[in-house]
Amino acid sequence: MMRNIPYGKQHITSEDVEAVNKVLLSDFLTQGPTINKLEEAFAQYVGAQYAVAVANGTAALHLCALALNVKAGDKVITTPITFAASANCVRYAGGDVVFADIDPATYTIDIAKVRALLEASPKGTYTGIIPVDFSGYPVNLEAFRQLADEHGLWIIEDACHAPGGYFMDSKGKKQMCGNGAFADLAIFSFHPVKHIAAGEGGMITTNSKALYDKLLLLRTHGITKNPDLLEENHGGWYYEMQELGYNYRLTDFQAALALSQLSRADAGLKRRETIAKKYDEAFARLGIIKQQREAKHHNAYHLYVIEVDRRKELYDYLREAGIFSQVHYIPVHTMPYYKKLGWKKGDFPLAEKYYERCLSIPMYPSLTDEEQDYVIEKIKSFFER
Ligand SMILES: *Cc1c(COP(=O)(O)O)cnc(C)c1O
Repeated sequence: MMRNIPYGKQHITSEDVEAVNKVLLSDFLTQGPTINKLEEAFAQYVGAQYAVAVANGTAALHLCALALNVKAGDKVITTPITFAASANCVRYAGGDVVFADIDPATYTIDIAKVRALLEASPKGTYTGIIPVDFSGYPVNLEAFRQLADEHGLWIIEDACHAPGGYFMDSKGKKQMCGNGAFADLAIFSFHPVKHIAAGEGGMITTNSKALYDKLLLLRTHGITKNPDLLEENHGGWYYEMQELGYNYRLTDFQAALALSQLSRADAGLKRRETIAKKYDEAFARLGIIKQQREAKHHNAYHLYVIEVDRRKELYDYLREAGIFSQVHYIPVHTMPYYKKLGWKKGDFPLAEKYYERCLSIPMYPSLTDEEQDYVIEKIKSFFER
């Protein structure tokens, strides 16, 4: 009997443990030098100029909304097929969320639907867009930037699923998720199910110095000690609270874990690709509808999603066999909180149809060949019954 196989899982090595131990025995548990090292390494990894480490991906989204001055009355567009935090950050800052349906081929927000929304209202109605690189599939941000510029919008790229993912732009240039070339800000999560695990943790990347400075301030209570920024200066102890910020810091030992994991990120991506390819080939013959991808988009495979007719039956069948698949996601607009705000079932038929059929099957670098074979065999046997 196999041990239980989840849909996603962290992988901790003895190097990871050693890196954390080293920080635990150092002078800094938080706000120390490892944070800066992680920020530099991460910025370099995704090709952005600046990176700001924060407590988790949700805090990253909240700070982005604040840095972009989201306020009451602002309308921000996002996808219903995402983790609720992608939408919630707008609400934290007092703004309104407007959803746009997905492209059934990629499961990401459909730019045609976003364009239709924007063109149906006077300019200035909307202030921003939050596209999500769902499952690791990079959204074409070049196209979104063009649309955003036409309507004076900012873009926050929710790249939680996609560190290492990229697409080729219209000039044939490789554009890494989170590189800040098209989005104003991008965010990542270091939750254990994501590519880089730190227990909890998040990162914001940007190419804007002004946004970077603002994020640094907001991350620690809005407090600065930087002599260049102070309005007054009473001496060595002096600091000022200039904005209403939060404590959204990451600890140094979490940063050490994330940094150690980041050094293996490419190897992890390769393994995810190999797993995806094997699933692709195994299911091609079964006639299961699976995720379609444009060759230009290089998926980071946070998830491997299949679409099937008898989804609940398959979910239960796999569970019985010790395979814990998952559903990503229950459409956000159908959550009771968003229903209270006026959204309802039926608003986004493509997202809702996708939800009826989707299943995320095991996808993580430490999934063994035997385990994957077992998953494939069980899925096949379900359809052959
Ligand atoms: C995980 C996730 C988040 C939130 O990250 P946390 O670190 O769990 O707060 C936001 N958006 C998406 C798409 C995610 O997958």
